[in-house]
Amino acid sequence: MNKEKDKKIAVIGGGPMGLSVCHELTKMGFSPDLIEADDRLGGMAACFDFANQKIERYYHFHCTGDLAFQKKVKELGLENQLKWKNTKMGFFYKNKLYKWGSVASVLKFPKISLISRFRYLLHALRCLTIKDWNHLDKVSASFWLKKWLGKNGYRIFWMKLFKYKFFQYSDNISAAWIWSRIQRLGKSRRFLKETLGYLKGGSDQLIESISNEIELLGGKIYLNSKVKSITPQNNGGGKIIFKNKERVYDLIISTIPLPLLGNIFQSGGVEKKICNLYFNCKSIACACVILNLKKPFSDNFWVNINDDRFKIPGVIEMSNLRPTLGSIVYIPFYMPTDTPDYQREDKDFINDAWQCLKQINTSLTDDDLMHSYCNRYIFAQPICETDHLSKLPPINPFKNIFTVDTTIYYPDDRGISESIEYGEKLAKSIFKE
Ligand SMILES: Cc1cc2nc3c(=O)[nH]c(=O)nc-3n(C[C@H](O)[C@H](O)[C@H](O)COP(=O)(O)OP(=O)(O)OC[C@H]3O[C@@H](n4cnc5c(N)ncnc54)[C@H](O)[C@@H]3O)c2cc1C
Repeated sequence: MNKEKDKKIAVIGGGPMGLSVCHELTKMGFSPDLIEADDRLGGMAACFDFANQKIERYYHFHCTGDLAFQKKVKELGLENQLKWKNTKMGFFYKNKLYKWGSVASVLKFPKISLISRFRYLLHALRCLTIKDWNHLDKVSASFWLKKWLGKNGYRIFWMKLFKYKFFQYSDNISAAWIWSRIQRLGKSRRFLKETLGYLKGGSDQLIESISNEIELLGGKIYLNSKVKSITPQNNGGGKIIFKNKERVYDLIISTIPLPLLGNIFQSGGVEKKICNLYFNCKSIACACVILNLKKPFSDNFWVNINDDRFKIPGVIEMSNLRPTLGSIVYIPFYMPTDTPDYQREDKDFINDAWQCLKQINTSLTDDDLMHSYCNRYIFAQPICETDHLSKLPPINPFKNIFTVDTTIYYPDDRGISESIEYGEKLAKSIFKE
């Protein structure tokens, strides 16, 4: 695309990817409009006021290999705000909380044969050495994990994690996707200890810094501005209707979840065949409970859970990574939106979450619970099935209209670093010589 600087550009979605695209464009000298539906920027990484502090609606940590994130943090002069900490992991199984996440903890785990424990470690090691993931793209994660760990190993370590995240899709998830997750975390180690990072002040620091830069360099940010329709124009770009505005842009880059574009294109008069490509993209929702406690729940950052009483894959105690006022614990209930449970009220999820914590740590009493909240997001976890990339709609379905979301950087899972990196690359590639 030519580089005339008066080009009218719209970036839809003010999450990390939209912000990254916009930042890159402003650095190139363009003055894009960033259009965001929410009343704040940040997307899944946005913060809210909870228990007298600003904290992410959904738990967020960073890994040592999140290089694009670290580069952006440095570019914005925030490197002193990025902190790293050795974190611990636990595994709640058969009513007992075990240490987890280190070679010693796996070898000491008494509920499975020694051979299975070795198989688990071998698999973790293998994940670190795989470079070419193409062969895993065609295989389901459950098949691959059973092959490495045995049926019993899979049942104890993984089955519930899949069941309570992916429900009916559990057996279709791609092995490449789960490999990438295991590898990202497995590599986040310093001197063999799991090391995770956080930004002082949370993701808000990053979001605010990028958005300030965007505005300083001439970009314009529209909040509370849900895009309702996009009508592609014959000569490229499209007409967008958002809030009470109707504008024609030479270039549109959408970073909102792909399934949402089905309706948006349909309202813009796009043929059904193309809209269906977007309707077919699948996601899992999350009702994510956040609790503020007077005392710590455990000394782990996360606790994986395999227990039929609780419909959750695990809990995340943020205060064991980042200093917070009181202990902050996230309890995510993932499920497809057509699961009847998703219609339950927030207070029911909060109650389930609190009962779960009290049954794992029996020293907790009702007096220890200070604040609670439940955030919800319909597109919390894209479902990346085998052969995922071939099932995605085209990135560039119309001349000068680009549609991407977190599933585009498969096999990597959704992540701030990945979204920043992809956004940067996309902006550069559109205007490459
Ligand atoms: C429970 C949970 C835990 C997570 N934990 C981590 C973690 O520990 N570490 C990590 O790196 N990442 C984590 N993530 C993922 C991370 O938050 C995402 O990868 C990142 O936010 C993706 O950014 P994005 O801009 O690509 O998409 P999004 O964040 O989804 O942003 C899309 C934006 O589009 C906006 N939008 C939607 N529809 C419209 C419309 N019609 N018009 C205008 N705007 C619209 C949305 O409001 C949103 O702001 C987690 C996510 C969740 C849900």
